[in-house]
Amino acid sequence: MKQAYFKLIKYLDAGLVLGSDTEIAGRIRLQQIRTIVDTTPTTLLCMLICAGITFVLLWAQSVNWFLIPWMTVIWLISAVGLYNYRKRLGGTDDLARANKKTVSKKSHFKVFKAATSIACIWATLPIVVYPVVETSHQPVIIAVTAGILGGGALVFYAIPRAMFAWLSIITAGAIGGLLLEGSSVSYGILILLFTYSAAMFFSGFTIARIYARAQLSHVEITEQSDTIGILLREFSENASDWLWEFSSNGTVIRGGKRFEEALNTPFGSVRADLGNGPNTGLSVILNQRSLEPLRRALEQKKSFRDIVIQSKGPGESCWVSMSGKPVLNSSGELIGFRGVASNITQRKLDEERIAFLAHNDALTGLVNRTHFSQALEKKFADARKTETWSVFYLDLDGFKSVNDHNGHGTGDTLLSGVASRLKNLVAETDIVARLGGDEFAILCSSADTVQSASSLAEEMVEELSKPYECDGKLLEIGVSIGIALGPEDGSDVYSLLNNADLALYRAKAEGKGTYRLYEVEMDEIAKQRRSLENDLRQALRNDELSVQYQPLVSSIDGKPTGFEALARWHHPERGAVSPSDFIPVAERMGIIPEIGEWVLMEACRAAANWPEGLTVAVNLSPQQFQSNKIVSVVVKALKESGLTPSRLELEITEGLFMENTEEVMYVLRELKAMGIQIAMDDFGTGYSSLSYIMKFPFDKLKIDRTFINSVDEDDVARNVLEVIANLGDVLNLKVTAEGVETLEQVEMLQKMNCTHYQGYYFGEPLNERDLSAYLLKDFKSELPIPADNIQNMGQTAS
Ligand code: C2E
Ligand code: CA
Ligand code: CA
Repeated sequence: MKQAYFKLIKYLDAGLVLGSDTEIAGRIRLQQIRTIVDTTPTTLLCMLICAGITFVLLWAQSVNWFLIPWMTVIWLISAVGLYNYRKRLGGTDDLARANKKTVSKKSHFKVFKAATSIACIWATLPIVVYPVVETSHQPVIIAVTAGILGGGALVFYAIPRAMFAWLSIITAGAIGGLLLEGSSVSYGILILLFTYSAAMFFSGFTIARIYARAQLSHVEITEQSDTIGILLREFSENASDWLWEFSSNGTVIRGGKRFEEALNTPFGSVRADLGNGPNTGLSVILNQRSLEPLRRALEQKKSFRDIVIQSKGPGESCWVSMSGKPVLNSSGELIGFRGVASNITQRKLDEERIAFLAHNDALTGLVNRTHFSQALEKKFADARKTETWSVFYLDLDGFKSVNDHNGHGTGDTLLSGVASRLKNLVAETDIVARLGGDEFAILCSSADTVQSASSLAEEMVEELSKPYECDGKLLEIGVSIGIALGPEDGSDVYSLLNNADLALYRAKAEGKGTYRLYEVEMDEIAKQRRSLENDLRQALRNDELSVQYQPLVSSIDGKPTGFEALARWHHPERGAVSPSDFIPVAERMGIIPEIGEWVLMEACRAAANWPEGLTVAVNLSPQQFQSNKIVSVVVKALKESGLTPSRLELEITEGLFMENTEEVMYVLRELKAMGIQIAMDDFGTGYSSLSYIMKFPFDKLKIDRTFINSVDEDDVARNVLEVIANLGDVLNLKVTAEGVETLEQVEMLQKMNCTHYQGYYFGEPLNERDLSAYLLKDFKSELPIPADNIQNMGQTAS
């Protein structure tokens, strides 16, 4: 019987997930118990009243021996129940306060037991009293029993087993009473009661299922929102975006900490301050201008997107982008705002940097070429009729060498140093730009006359030429400046800049380290230069170039030991153009490698026809070393001409060592290893030749003709010449004196350690045909002091 009963209970719980030990079952059980506990006061009060009325109505029926204890028990139960309920200040809250989320199966069983015991007490009423009272009083019992049956079912519906116990026990009691009474009406009532009870049970059971299912979805929803809550919290704490919430009066309810972090300012009692409020919260830390759009958006109570707020204060600015919408309650009143915010400080900084770089030079912070042109354009547009201003074009002298010798890092430091000195020299309103490399430009409104511009330029040359301390080294550098005055020297940006550039060109051409103001003639000169450039481009193709050969003679006997190949350009209209004029132009145009290669081929081809022992010297420009092709070009020239490498002499100038010294040394060694002789040309005109002489084993020094020129009247020049000649002797180098024109010079030179002479005295540059005739000459009496007489002077001519 007992087993069958529990089986039944199990069946009742099935589908209600109540039997399991899962957490969800626990939660649903709790809800079920709550429905019962919630009705406790009413239920108990009803019981109290019902029992009391029953007692009064049946007072005269001489069953008081039963009614008195019966009622006492019920009243006691009710009183204790109510007392407990009151003491705990409401059962529901009790559960809530205990912070219970689930209850075990045991608590269901407790309810079941309570239902069973109370039902048993009520069931005794029909059994004991119904058969013995007068027929007139029987309806009282029927009414009370039916009411208790229904009421209990309603109370316990959430827990079917309790409801089942209640219904079955009370019905059983009623059936017992009716059977004992035994009248035919009683049988009818019995059937009615049974029917009620079954109907109540089935509908109660159905409601219980619906209730359990509703609870189940409630639990699931709660669980989901818990999960969402966790995810959101995590999102708010970690992601670069966060959720925020303001109340309608501007109090920051959520996300305040993130605002503080993102805006890098603590703002204590956090308020968004939507207007008239005191200066608290966001308005304290926000830049007033950036707060305005947010304030407006909040005032309008509309959704907004990507409003950017910016922190104020002395530190670095921070930016936050906010999107949000108003939150309304069910009656449509505004209760606050809610949305997402993201820290866009890094993005803003990047944008600012990009914008800065679009107009400025990253290294020096000066404006760049684009911005400078724009500023000049604006100057032209805005300037009053009588207003004048100046444009300075600056080019550093010798920067390349500093860069190559000290590395780019030091070069950069030097450029920054130049930039800051320039800024200090001009007025705040003047615009200093770095146009690129070592070129600078200044738009100078403060120097608006020839006099003021000149004195500023003088100051610049002086100031920029002072030593710079870069990375622990003291470096010096020069500057050349070209100046044009606006608007008289140029009516638009292009022509003004162009003319300043022409003036700079002139300053450079006239010895560097100085300034020049634009003059109208410069235009003419520039035009001529451009036309010369155009013509030179055509010269090779038009066969206008040729090579002449100037003899180099031995200082012992005056006999030629070789010839220097010198390029010649015969222009159809200009006539003969000096290499001193066109070689620098070709170098600037970058076409010297082409011309040089042609001269080399031509010279080797010619020399191959000369008598054995005669050398040919070919001049090489620094640019010819830049492409790294020089070795293969030389090899090709030797191979095609069949000239022995030892008969080729390559003349280089120290300008070659200004850049990439190591690489140049490497190439020179390679050439020397092939047997080619290397000569240092124009020796004595530079300032560091000596150090290069020590670094590379040259075969020959060619003393510049300026020394020989002044040897007659200048003692210093004579001494220098003598020292250089001796140096060659010490280092075992051949020494050629260039530009020997007179007999006196030869006599003077014969007392020194030169091994070779070159100059008009011995022979002018000759074309190939004249050269053959020259070689047939008798060289016996070429030198004033006969070879025999000077042999004892210790010379080592070869
Ligand atoms: P450089 O290498 O110093 O050549 C010697 C220059 O002095 C030649 O001038 C020559 O004609 C001149 N000269 C020779 N003897 C005397 C003299 O007694 N008195 C005077 N006043 N001058 C004399 P040129 O031919 O006008 O060449 C000038 C410069 O052009 C050369 O100077 C050389 O640096 C350059 N050059 C000439 N041909 C070439 C070439 O094929 N390639 C390269 N890269 N440079 C060349
Ligand atoms: Ca030369
Ligand atoms: Ca020379």
